[in-house]
Amino acid sequence: MFERLSTSETDPILALMQAFQADPRPNKVDLGIGVWRDAEGRTPVFQAVKTAEERIWHSQDSKIYVGFRGDPGFHAAVSDLLLGPEGDGDWRAASATTGGTSAVQTALALARTARPDLRVWVPEESWPNHWVLARSLGLETRNFTYIDPATQEIERAGLLRDLAGARAGDVVLLHACCHNPTGADPDPELQEEIVTSLAQSGAIPVVDCAYLGFGAAPEADLAFLRRLSALPESIVAFSGSKSFGLYRERVGLCLALTESARARDAVESQLTRLNRETYSFPPDHGARVVTEILTDPTLRASWDTELSAIRRALIDNRANLAASLRARLNSDAFDRLTRQNGMFAMLPLGTERVARLRAEHGLYIVGTGRINLAGVTEATCAPVADALAAVLR
Ligand code: PMP
Repeated sequence: MFERLSTSETDPILALMQAFQADPRPNKVDLGIGVWRDAEGRTPVFQAVKTAEERIWHSQDSKIYVGFRGDPGFHAAVSDLLLGPEGDGDWRAASATTGGTSAVQTALALARTARPDLRVWVPEESWPNHWVLARSLGLETRNFTYIDPATQEIERAGLLRDLAGARAGDVVLLHACCHNPTGADPDPELQEEIVTSLAQSGAIPVVDCAYLGFGAAPEADLAFLRRLSALPESIVAFSGSKSFGLYRERVGLCLALTESARARDAVESQLTRLNRETYSFPPDHGARVVTEILTDPTLRASWDTELSAIRRALIDNRANLAASLRARLNSDAFDRLTRQNGMFAMLPLGTERVARLRAEHGLYIVGTGRINLAGVTEATCAPVADALAAVLR
């Protein structure tokens, strides 16, 4: 049977990571993989996580299964964080998932259950797994215009024109904040226009929230998600990987906002079924850590402070790279880096320049031109800017 198999395509970022590790040059710089790193290149465990884990270690006396949809305390803690407390006429159905990947997958599978013929609208520039997940569920994908490649600013007119083609019951995948890979997020006016477009078409937003707190304080980073959640129906796919630094613990939540108690109950039963059909019970350790942090004022304040340090570093790295490129290229083309958010930005490189950067300068960048700003630290900014200027001039 295995003789029938051919090798599956390798993930390009994973391949880049392996090549970086094998490179003996001491001055190599990795701007590829999408994890947060500090100036020393480490991805430390949040102190708030350490303390929460210590408390759980002391208090937890059983590892028995939790429910099929995970711990209701976790659902409530994350849903309160994202949307504020549940009020009257606010029917939320939630399921813990294995990270944000599985939250997006669950959201799409849930929507497919209701509408087997739905189409999934994905921004033309997006996290590549959005297409992978939709297609693995047998769903048709459509791209909508997102960025103007020349300016790397959002192409507003094209975006709204394409979204107007969505049908009632279609799914529109949107990034809550810190768009991956461009870092370009809709301003409040465009956010409103997108909400109006969805209200008119009846398409359902699936809001991918994987970088909460990386662009601005959580309340500000949640503005678009909250606008979208005012629509009659929406789904949020939350990831705790970056915002809580819990990558390998696989913390995620699929949260559906429904129009009635009856719909909420039906969605909950479908979410239960979806988990039963895949992994039965979602992992609980990371979810419990997040619940502990969000429900304890001291831990929550500590998390907030640690998250804001990450955010400040990203903002500084963006400003330093923009200034360095401005000085070297005598152009303001990269000033936009300071107006964009989160870990990622796209540079106009093309595969040939990306290959040169790697071969001649030891600078590792994804073939699409996406860079991770976490890698542009005080120590690496000048050599990175020198290398970029050398290929961009
Ligand atoms: N959505 C986006 C936009 C992402 O960039 C990522 C992580 N790369 C995820 C979801 C999923 O993250 P995870 O499964 O690690 O929680």
